Amino acid sequence: MTELRTLVLVLGDQLDLDAAAFDGFDPAQDAVWMAEVAEESEHVWSGKPRIAIFLSAMRHFALALQEAGRPLHYTALDSEGNPGRLDAQLTADLQRLRPRQLVMTAPGDWRVLQQMKSVAAAQGLPLEIREDRHFFVTVREFAAHARQRRGLRMEYFYREQRRRHQVLMAPDTDPPQPLGGQWNFDSDNRESFGAQGPGFVPERVTVPPDAITQAVIDLVNQRFADHPGALDRFAWPVTRAQALEALTRFIEDRLPMFGRYQDAMWPGEPWLYHAHLSAALNLKLLNPREVVAAAEAAYHRGHAPLPSVEGFIRQILGWREYVRGVYWTQMPAYADRNALNAQEDLPAWYWTGETDLACLRDALTQTLTHGYAHHIQRLMVTGLYALLLGVRPQQVHAWYLAVYVDAVEWVELPNTLGMSQYADGGVMGSKPYIATGKYIQRMSPHCEGCRYDPGQRVGERACPFTTLYWDFLMRHESLLAQHPRMALQVKNLGRLSERDRQAVAERAAEIRRGEVGGRTEAQPAPNTGEVSHA
Ligand code: FAD
Ligand code: SF4
Repeated sequence: MTELRTLVLVLGDQLDLDAAAFDGFDPAQDAVWMAEVAEESEHVWSGKPRIAIFLSAMRHFALALQEAGRPLHYTALDSEGNPGRLDAQLTADLQRLRPRQLVMTAPGDWRVLQQMKSVAAAQGLPLEIREDRHFFVTVREFAAHARQRRGLRMEYFYREQRRRHQVLMAPDTDPPQPLGGQWNFDSDNRESFGAQGPGFVPERVTVPPDAITQAVIDLVNQRFADHPGALDRFAWPVTRAQALEALTRFIEDRLPMFGRYQDAMWPGEPWLYHAHLSAALNLKLLNPREVVAAAEAAYHRGHAPLPSVEGFIRQILGWREYVRGVYWTQMPAYADRNALNAQEDLPAWYWTGETDLACLRDALTQTLTHGYAHHIQRLMVTGLYALLLGVRPQQVHAWYLAVYVDAVEWVELPNTLGMSQYADGGVMGSKPYIATGKYIQRMSPHCEGCRYDPGQRVGERACPFTTLYWDFLMRHESLLAQHPRMALQVKNLGRLSERDRQAVAERAAEIRRGEVGGRTEAQPAPNTGEVSHA
């Protein structure tokens, strides 16, 4: 056997034949390394859809590598002797293959980066970590942007990216102006469906399991039987061709209405006008540049209105790039932050969906069934409840990282710990996103079918969101009173008498004891706990 020059390490979320790690790849001297290990499904108690999408996409990518003529060393989850850990599998393979050097694209997870570096060091091998070209902005560029600003606000970062990449910009303007004369059409994008509901919603792309995916489904059902979620409706794109088809269908069928109903919810309707492209993007089956370009082209050919297109592009060119920058400039200390000193446990029913809060039951059930919920469900239903309850952010993080098909730590952690739980004290979000049940009532008809009443603060029928909202204000009154954008909400506390406050605190205590909301006997699995990098 000829000596192996370079072993290119490819992780489960790096499924891109054009990644920087392949620059200069010579099949005569180089090879690719991939491994499926149980650790990646067990370090948080991953839901079955999340495990299946990673394994199936990896196996399909292995085929694409072979078709491209790139030699591959691939360890399957059920291969004999698989030690179940990434570092142990890599160590064993390095000792066997003896490459001269290792190359990889920068991982999306701080924990994995440390593992890869320490294996390479222990084996005395050089490890070259290359830029992840998938993103518009490098971490170094983001850090430079952050240094110029006192606070890290997404909006300024986003405008800078629009100018820099010439996205949705008016032609021939000095200084550069955004198309339509405004940067942000968020205020046009907050409609709910009327009483008649969403009506006909174009079908999302569903991919029936092929033989590879079916084998993965069988394996996951057998090996991870006690993990949350189900696979009987698994239909996610797992190849680049399928992801491109999903992109086309989104642009043609749903983008025109995306903006308008971006925040709306409807019981039993998980998909609505969203893109469902986050998993394909995060696995690197799609490149964000092609997604942004397709949306912009749809505007220019008169297919979709500017508020929809701008709203969609902001999520990708703005939020997605921004959270990555936050993650890599703040880690590892970021993962342990708990600015509000939240110490409650996550209710066990987050892992089963068995709750009598109608909005939460719907969001949790679809999450466990499909590994998907849209942004407002994550932020203003599951996330809001955990925030108001005062759950330890590291437990909330472990849950979000486990249950969604698009969950990779660089994107999940800042969204959860920062945007949703305000545990970073305001790095990501300018204020805690808090609301009573009336917000959910405005954006969906969930409350009509619920045993609770969003208008009631205390009493048997009081909506737990509403009780906990007032309790949250009371618990953090002195901190929030100093916050310019929270002062008005805090001022409303002045309307409560001492007796009202006591009643709120008592009802909130009942909710925390598990006397309201759902079955408390549902036991979380052994490792549903917390993720920490300390
Ligand atoms: P759409 O609503 O159609 O949006 C289009 C695309 O924009 C998405 O595909 C996604 O790539 C990007 N996007 C939208 N919002 C964000 C955002 N806030 N941050 C980064 N990218 C964004 N997104 C993930 O990709 N992985 C996660 O693990 C994840 N965890 C989250 C946890 C919480 C608590 C919250 C509040 C949000 C989280 N998000 C996460 C962001 C967002 O909810 C999802 O990207 C989105 O719901 C995916 O569905 P979609 O593809 O239909 O998105
Ligand atoms: Fe959710 Fe409260 Fe409305 Fe019930 S009443 S659906 S718990 S917001």
